[in-house]
Amino acid sequence: MVNAADAREVWQKCLSIIKKEITVQTYRTWFEPISPVSLSGNELMVLVPSKFHYEWIESHFVSILRKSITQTLGASSILKYQIAREEDDPEVFIPEDRIQDPVSVQGNRQPAGNGVKLSYGTNPKPLNDDLVPNNLNDKYTFDTFIKGDSNQLARAAAFAVSENPGSNSFNPLFIYGGVGLGKTHLIQAIGNRVAKSGKVRNILYVSSERFTVDFVNSIQHNRVSEFSTFYRNVDLLIVDDVQFFSGKEKTQEEFFHIFNTLHQSGKQIVLTSDRPPKDMKFFEERLLSRFQWGLAADIQAPDLETRIAILNHKAAQQEFVLDSEVIEFIAVNVTNNVRQLEGCLVKLMAQASLTGASINLGMARDALRDIIKPSKINLSIESIQRIVSEYFGISHDLLIDGTRKQEIVRARQIAMYLAKEFTQSSLKTIGNHFGRRDHTTVIHSCESVKNQAETNDKYKKTLDDIRRKIEMSM
Ligand code: ADP
Ligand code: MG
Repeated sequence: MVNAADAREVWQKCLSIIKKEITVQTYRTWFEPISPVSLSGNELMVLVPSKFHYEWIESHFVSILRKSITQTLGASSILKYQIAREEDDPEVFIPEDRIQDPVSVQGNRQPAGNGVKLSYGTNPKPLNDDLVPNNLNDKYTFDTFIKGDSNQLARAAAFAVSENPGSNSFNPLFIYGGVGLGKTHLIQAIGNRVAKSGKVRNILYVSSERFTVDFVNSIQHNRVSEFSTFYRNVDLLIVDDVQFFSGKEKTQEEFFHIFNTLHQSGKQIVLTSDRPPKDMKFFEERLLSRFQWGLAADIQAPDLETRIAILNHKAAQQEFVLDSEVIEFIAVNVTNNVRQLEGCLVKLMAQASLTGASINLGMARDALRDIIKPSKINLSIESIQRIVSEYFGISHDLLIDGTRKQEIVRARQIAMYLAKEFTQSSLKTIGNHFGRRDHTTVIHSCESVKNQAETNDKYKKTLDDIRRKIEMSM
């Protein structure tokens, strides 16, 4: 029997299953707008706002929909869609690619009810388990984004946008910078914060590639008007990596019109690119000028302190305890990509869990050989001597000759110790570089440095400072 109340109940059960597997944002965007229509036997009919909406959920959420409906109504259950009538598109919509599919024919072309164009069964073709490829990832928040000089403006602007989407002077907010510097993180943080605040309803994060593919598909299937209606209904549109629109004239044109509509109606637009608008090639001038209507803010590679803070933060997030020496080693050597900093941590965590041992500097160096090139680590003894003598303001000759003056001895011992730490040289070779001293002298020096570093904080700090200078020089 057809029954609306039962339909509601069944759909609620489905939703509670779906809800568990997707983010709140995705749920709100794609599932809240769907309403149950009727239940007839094991056939549930739901109403979706548009063809585009239907296609989106069919291509992105088919497996989870299937799971929810079979868990609720049994294995042979059927989910049918009705598509709400859109004023500007009175034609009956017959998706030929789907009705030719032998299984989904079931339920097709049934006479549609009021305000309804068509209904058809779920597409049983290959499951797409990648549930939310273009949506917000809730791990990207402002809380987890480390501030630094390198991202200060971009972050502040992003935060301001998230406070008042649409009604601020940063529209569009255009964030640019190199790979792995946190652009995606930052713009998703905007989306997540706005979603949480409930200030606007329709939030969409989309990569420019996805936008392009969907647009091309909509041309092929004669659904361009639907595509643009869909985007024109978004309140906060976040498009990542717009540099990929380069040379794609039709896509640029479509985006230009969507941009204008949204901008005119006070909707917020956020964009990222790997370069500033002025350096973007094969773009229509009018689009580039729009990109600069609001604020273009760059993200630079983080400085050393920020890199250390990011590493500390990420390690703490994973409850991974790492020696500050190791953190510094990574931070000093991986300088222009935050994703790579994370990669180092992941590697060390794997290493630690394999060996069950905590990671010391030597182990880190070994484990990260393919990221932090050993050639960089293979310093010469001479260059270490140079850095140490510069640090103490003494001449190179004085460092290696026979002087027994206490402060020279201290510098010499530290130089030997660091030569042992940073080079693959034998004790004998090191001794040879320090005025042909015996290898036992080198051993003695290393022991002495180690002991003093362990018992004297000031001494340790000196040693760390020099070590950092050496690492910086690599
Ligand atoms: P982009 O989009 O610029 O290529 P992403 O946003 O994907 O870079 O950032 C790469 C990785 O580095 C992500 O895991 C992100 O969380 C992290 N990341 C980048 N910048 C920061 C930062 N300032 N604080 C914390 N994590 C960051
Ligand atoms: Mg990115």
